[in-house]
Amino acid sequence: MLMNEPLSLYLHIPFCASRCGYCDFNTYAGKESLIPDYLKAIQAEILISRDLLVLNNPVHSIYFGGGTPSLLPAAGINTLMETIRTAFDVREDAEVTLEMNPGDADADLVRQIRHAGINRVSLGMQSADPRELTLMDRRHTPEKTLEAVEHLKSAGINNFSLDLIYGFPQQTMESWRKSLETALSLDPAHISLYALSVEEGTPLKRRIELGQLDPPDDDRTAEMYQAAEEILEKDGFLHYEISNWARTAEVQSRHNTQYWLTQPYLGLGAGAHGNVYHIRTKNHTSIETYIEAMQKAENHKTGFPAASEVIPQTELMEMQDFMILGLRLLQTGASPERFKQRFSVTQEEIFHYQIERLLAKGLIEYGPERQLLLRKDRIFISNQVFMEFI
Ligand code: SF4
Repeated sequence: MLMNEPLSLYLHIPFCASRCGYCDFNTYAGKESLIPDYLKAIQAEILISRDLLVLNNPVHSIYFGGGTPSLLPAAGINTLMETIRTAFDVREDAEVTLEMNPGDADADLVRQIRHAGINRVSLGMQSADPRELTLMDRRHTPEKTLEAVEHLKSAGINNFSLDLIYGFPQQTMESWRKSLETALSLDPAHISLYALSVEEGTPLKRRIELGQLDPPDDDRTAEMYQAAEEILEKDGFLHYEISNWARTAEVQSRHNTQYWLTQPYLGLGAGAHGNVYHIRTKNHTSIETYIEAMQKAENHKTGFPAASEVIPQTELMEMQDFMILGLRLLQTGASPERFKQRFSVTQEEIFHYQIERLLAKGLIEYGPERQLLLRKDRIFISNQVFMEFI
């Protein structure tokens, strides 16, 4: 990690009021009584990481993800922000995002988180159709999303992103278009679209296996993606990453771009992933194990005190990540200059065969600055491109 390379912090908040049927994230319902101990544990992890990793790099993005970070009391978010500011050199213009469930966004909470330093919100809208939200087991209604956006705007948080899911059983092209149009009518700075993936062990998977719901139809899912591309482009949105659109280049997610550019980030909290000093880490996923690890004094002497996995990276692993993640960025692609600067060799010297094959198959192309780009009409089979680099 270079001395002045900006750093990002990810804080995982693994609490949800209830579980959505499609979700396999590391999050738990009914464990809210653990929140006070959890907050203390994350504070300890922040301070220990600062001391032992000697991370003096300026922090330019902070992301509270989950789970449901908006379930935390505003005072808890404030305390975490204060601890972070004490421990790290947080840039004045840092992007500070909190994921929010529209059901939680009352006017007071939004004002208080703004006061704590949150300047960007990622709102889990998911759909504008009440029946779809019920099918997804979401606890909010479409009206709640509208109210949440009003509260965000009144509090001055105009930099907000809306998440939508497509390819859900029973979702129609008509309802999908309506969700997109409703989202656009709320004037978000950013939109993230996620194709439903049916994960093992989820209630959704069981309902499909029992024949209660139809499995997702890949062709219809692809059509929905194409429809979204057209609608968002017509509205002036910049399609900058496979699943992400921004109103302007300035409001692209700085935090997620850190991942796609393979720049360093520290993962804090249960199940959080990190990547600093060429070491990838994953913390204990169970809330109780994480809290226990942070309460053990002997763990306070190790660089990654809550990690269950610590995987040093080789240069080749980092080169592969650079290509795979860089190609997700549709405008800038995998930059040849940054590659050369970082690894002191060219992309062609390392991945000559892969690049040749992908160009021949028409899956990638050179952009105006000789950067490699995923071909837009091949996004739906982008996994074939990424597999080449593994
Ligand atoms: S609110 Fe989000 S994290 Fe929680 S269960 Fe639903 S999808 Fe998963």
